[in-house]
Amino acid sequence: MLNIVIFGPPGSGKGTQSENLIKEYKLAHISTGDLLRKEISTNTQLGALAKSHMDKGELVPDNVIIDMIDSYLDKNFGKIEGVIFDGFPRTVAQAEALKNLLVEYKTKVNVTLNLEVPNEELMARMIERGKTSGRSDDNPETIKARLDVYEKQTKPVLDFYKKEGVVANIKGVGSIEGIFADIKKAVDAAK
Ligand code: ADP
Repeated sequence: MLNIVIFGPPGSGKGTQSENLIKEYKLAHISTGDLLRKEISTNTQLGALAKSHMDKGELVPDNVIIDMIDSYLDKNFGKIEGVIFDGFPRTVAQAEALKNLLVEYKTKVNVTLNLEVPNEELMARMIERGKTSGRSDDNPETIKARLDVYEKQTKPVLDFYKKEGVVANIKGVGSIEGIFADIKKAVDAAK
């Protein structure tokens, strides 16, 4: 299996580059943000819980997220050749849980792609995206909270994967194609 974590602050292009990865490699794509937004749009109980956190720019509780990933792998393992994890793991507890889950399937994270983008650029991108995305969390106040949460709760995940020796740093500024060329090199080196 080829398992990829696409990692970076909100607005760093994880979703965009995941789309490119799917086209290039035969992998399943799990975006926890997309899964949560689906729950919200279908008015489930989980969706209501998720929305109360997402609208404040806070993380949804680890157990909710880990259960989602667990049941996805349970349903799909065996049918897939690998996974792109997008927006997950976002805490060290999630990274540890993922490691344990993947061990059960005798597999692991092969590479963590760390998209590096300066904060001013992230702000500008998300404010621009907010004009068309319809995402209620793409407004200046919530964006600031999300960047803060990223620094405090999510960045430590990078150290977790550095210890595992699987981090590839990718400069996330430039053309989408240029960034993807760097991503491809890192993925092919990890295969
Ligand atoms: P972005 O990377 O632009 O913030 P996402 O779609 O990945 O967009 O996430 C949107 C929101 O969904 C987050 O701010 C958070 O509230 C929630 N969320 C998504 N993934 C996770 C996760 N793995 N753990 C906790 N909360 C999450």
